[in-house]
Amino acid sequence: MRLCRAQQAMSDETAYPALYLKRGEDTRLRAGHLWVFSNEVDVKRSPLTGFEPGAACVIVDAHDKPLGVGYVNPNSLICARLVNRGIAHAIDRSLIVHKLNVALALRERLYAEPYYRLVFGESDGLPGLTVDRFGDVIAAQITTAGMERMKDDIAAALVKVIKPAAIVWKNDSGIRTLEQLPSYADIGYGELNAPVITREAGLEFEVDIIGGQKTGWFYDQRANRDLLAPLVRDARVLDVFSYLGGWGLRAAAAGAREVTCVDASASAVEAIKRNAARNGLADRVSAVKADAFEHLKALREARERYDVVILDPPAFVKRKKDFSEGRLAYRRVNEMAMQILAKDGILITCSCSYHMSRTALLDAIQQGARHLDRHVQVLAQLQQAPDHPMHPAIPETDYLKGYICRVVAA
Ligand code: SAH
Repeated sequence: MRLCRAQQAMSDETAYPALYLKRGEDTRLRAGHLWVFSNEVDVKRSPLTGFEPGAACVIVDAHDKPLGVGYVNPNSLICARLVNRGIAHAIDRSLIVHKLNVALALRERLYAEPYYRLVFGESDGLPGLTVDRFGDVIAAQITTAGMERMKDDIAAALVKVIKPAAIVWKNDSGIRTLEQLPSYADIGYGELNAPVITREAGLEFEVDIIGGQKTGWFYDQRANRDLLAPLVRDARVLDVFSYLGGWGLRAAAAGAREVTCVDASASAVEAIKRNAARNGLADRVSAVKADAFEHLKALREARERYDVVILDPPAFVKRKKDFSEGRLAYRRVNEMAMQILAKDGILITCSCSYHMSRTALLDAIQQGARHLDRHVQVLAQLQQAPDHPMHPAIPETDYLKGYICRVVAA
């Protein structure tokens, strides 16, 4: 492969092969985005087949101007991602250490204790990498071949910056198949000698970071859970799609009279019971293993009423083509929740589907309400917590939305 002018200016270690973009295809990257799609590459100048999955590259525009360094996956629709603008730095351990330090500084500014998402992929300049912190235990997830190749350097950089007791690779996300990466979850460094704990607002939760969902805990909802306190005093609360009881236990700690958590996962339900006991809340918190839709129906038929219902479901719209079906699921579950709300009850309802917009969720809520002849008052609009910062040029980084509503008679 021919060296471009930029590469000639680089030292031998950093002179990566060039990935040439077609004319005009540099605009999005210059506007801040980090992704290159395969149809944007000038494959005559730089055939994608010339790159190994995960190989480092210099991304170069049609006028031979380098945009920065990144990595390639010829097998993926997103065939390259920009890791660093300019060509002054190689993609190596010291660059990762630098980026981890920048990410850490934000979290240390935001949080008094070391329990947070430390790296949120593209938003923290590390596309394809997610890192959650549980005190001195790290749960990390890689979703691209480029980051997988850097795995040892990432681990070494985490050891240098965080000095953890253990690093767990939670590399079992379904999106890894898009990059033809294997699925596994294992300990990559150190040892796990005790149950992993996360702390939130004075509560402790036991988290299974190897067998649990995603990277073990949903830090993205923490700031939203902080809004519960004034809404739940003496209330009867139903936490649907509860996972480990994040919302439910926070509600109980804030003075709810009775909390029921519902989740389809048996291990999550068992963990809720342990977590309730651990925090001295077992007398007020119960957990039911059930399908949310069936359980809501049964509660409606039994004429049960709750002052506050929380809906924090998994993504019902995983791909764009699932939109119609997923939208209906949001509409149905919200309507079912309203049917078991006590008079003037509070509905906290969320969606983590990127393809379900804020407006689409609000429409689904409103349609459900009209169908039941109710009036919805939106008290607050929710978004992901600040340890999941949004990247202004990458809409996919803004995925979590929700509403706190009061539902009253029409
Ligand atoms: N509210 C949680 C996060 C929920 S993640 C928190 O704040 O931490 C979504 C949860 O929904 C998972 O725990 C999953 O087991 C559960 N789930 C998925 N489909 C379900 C269904 N049909 N019925 C009940 N629970 C379901």
